[in-house]
Amino acid sequence: MSQEIDPSRPSIARAYDVVLGGKDNYAADRAFADQLRATVPQIDDLAWLNRRLLGRAVRYLAGEAGLDQFLDLGAGLPTMENTHQVAQAQNPDTRVVYVDIDPIVLAHGQALLAENGRTGVITADLRDPTAVLEHPTTRELIDRGRPVAVLLIGLLHHLHDDENPQGIVDAYMDAVPAGSHLAISHFCDVGPEARELQETFLTFLGTGRFRTIEEITGYFRGLELIEPGVVPLPVWRPDGLPPGELTLWDRLMAAGVARKR
Ligand code: SAM
Repeated sequence: MSQEIDPSRPSIARAYDVVLGGKDNYAADRAFADQLRATVPQIDDLAWLNRRLLGRAVRYLAGEAGLDQFLDLGAGLPTMENTHQVAQAQNPDTRVVYVDIDPIVLAHGQALLAENGRTGVITADLRDPTAVLEHPTTRELIDRGRPVAVLLIGLLHHLHDDENPQGIVDAYMDAVPAGSHLAISHFCDVGPEARELQETFLTFLGTGRFRTIEEITGYFRGLELIEPGVVPLPVWRPDGLPPGELTLWDRLMAAGVARKR
């Protein structure tokens, strides 16, 4: 199952591309980004915080944690520091499967990845773990007998409570062996501005649920959280000095990485 490309309505992948400064978007996506900016002018900074977090998490997973297989769920349009580039810089043999419901990701992703036989892009709905895990590209590239890094970066907040996000996370983690890791970043309910943003997301996009740090931490149930746990994006293993006092937008998303025992 995938979604149609409809230029008259904003899509998550294209709207994210707008706030990251990309060119793969339509007027409806840019108008939606302007709605978000009217609520939180620094929304573009938040998108970049998330993108940099993805880079740090993948560097950790491919480096220190030693993983060489990645399932990037809700991968988004290719931009800077894509998962395969970061992971294969650590270990050129790393295999990566990108999964996205939006066919525009496949169209652009294939062009970027054409030269790389260890990376695949599939159009699939991650709410159907069997379809993702049994897809021929996933089966070809990912050996589920060995640890897998499962990425849900900037994604679970686009699942409504009644779509059983916890059950979906559990289904992926049940399908991979001990030593596998889960990385999540998620919109965080840190007060009235977060709820105002949530309203804008729900009104114009239809998804975008801000959950508390406790709710986000709950997604890692049964797994061993890696230090520093589930924290605002800039606090998760910063590259340089620890961040100073956090701004509001620094705290609008939280992230964590955990290991399956
Ligand atoms: N993971 C990337 C990152 O953090 O930089 C991209 C995040 S982007 C905000 C979320 C992506 O998830 C979009 O490209 C969207 O199309 C995709 N997505 C949303 N719902 C999905 C679903 N049910 N199955 C697969 N992909 C989905």
